[in-house]
Amino acid sequence: MKYVLIPTRNKGFDFTKVPYIREIVPSSVESNFYQSYPTIAKYLREYLDKFNDYEYALNETHPQAKILQQCGDQEFEIIFLGTGSSVPSKYRNVTGILLNLFDKGAILFDCGEGTLSQLYRACGKERAETILKNLKCIWISHLHADHHLGLAYLLEKRSKLTSEDVVIVGQGRIKEALSEYLVCSSDTKFNFDFIPMQTLEPERYCPEKILLDRVINPLGLKSFINVPVDHTCAEAYGIVITHQNGWKVVFSGDTRPCSRLIKAGKDCTVLIHEATFEASMIKDAISKKHTCSFEAIAVGEQMNAYRTILTHFSQRYCKFPIVDSQKTDYALRNVAVAHDLMRLNAKKLIPIPKVMQVLKHFWTIIEMDTQSYAFDFDETEDEEKK
Ligand SMILES: [Zn+2]
Ligand SMILES: [Zn+2]
Repeated sequence: MKYVLIPTRNKGFDFTKVPYIREIVPSSVESNFYQSYPTIAKYLREYLDKFNDYEYALNETHPQAKILQQCGDQEFEIIFLGTGSSVPSKYRNVTGILLNLFDKGAILFDCGEGTLSQLYRACGKERAETILKNLKCIWISHLHADHHLGLAYLLEKRSKLTSEDVVIVGQGRIKEALSEYLVCSSDTKFNFDFIPMQTLEPERYCPEKILLDRVINPLGLKSFINVPVDHTCAEAYGIVITHQNGWKVVFSGDTRPCSRLIKAGKDCTVLIHEATFEASMIKDAISKKHTCSFEAIAVGEQMNAYRTILTHFSQRYCKFPIVDSQKTDYALRNVAVAHDLMRLNAKKLIPIPKVMQVLKHFWTIIEMDTQSYAFDFDETEDEEKK
């Protein structure tokens, strides 16, 4: 894509070289990637040939490993639509995480700007629109813009696909912002019901709580618990979802390591925890109320999380982040790093920490490839000057 200044009659973005979103299907993205990076393709094939999920799972003693082994292919998947913090970058969009239960529906944790486009990129048009229509809940962790700025656009698109209401669980000001948006854009429609975040705390009674049945029943959940966490703005929450089949997914939102979350998420299947900074930036982590990667890993270990997936990286680590304490026994066996458009089926949670070792090599190769292209380009320029 380029921006045209002159001739002025063509002024503006030129999309002619950008494939229309409908033409983008995951399989073509994959094959293009392999064509562009043949070394990685070879590496991946060799790795997959050697790796045996089943043998790996047999060595696992965590009770959740047994539950996952019994899961079918369509039990659940986690799709990372944005894994960076603050503002979008080339490789990491801002937060959006989809917990997809296939035919039963889905829950979206946070909806940063660009979340809808990322869903289309991750799933292709047809599947993305099926997920959107069948979306049961959008849960907003807190009021920082990188966690909800894509909400209005996603709701607008969804209302063109279905008239069924989606349940939004969020802060009162999210509802106000959506109402303001509708005042300014009279032809826009949103289909949603709203549950104020605090009303889901166990000790409070509120009539809106009944709306949660529209999420819990179709998805077959056992519980849906909001946990207040420790961040720079009021009403910041983490969430713990437990399914009737025994698996449990925890998302931290933005927070310092939080004992309430550790308690509520005990023995979970997956902890998705923010890891904004590396250890050397601990002062920033404390003042901005975020977590360093080594702290997030420690939270996972204390929680006895079967898998801990790190996300919400500062954009200074927009490729492979610096992960401290990655050599501890827990980190080697249980921890993985999220990337945009990463799709984790329940079954694939078993080998994911091993896959991370390979992914790290991928980034090194991509980095080297990019540098060699840059080098060639410089040489060409020099040649031209001569
Ligand atoms: Zn954030
Ligand atoms: Zn925040």
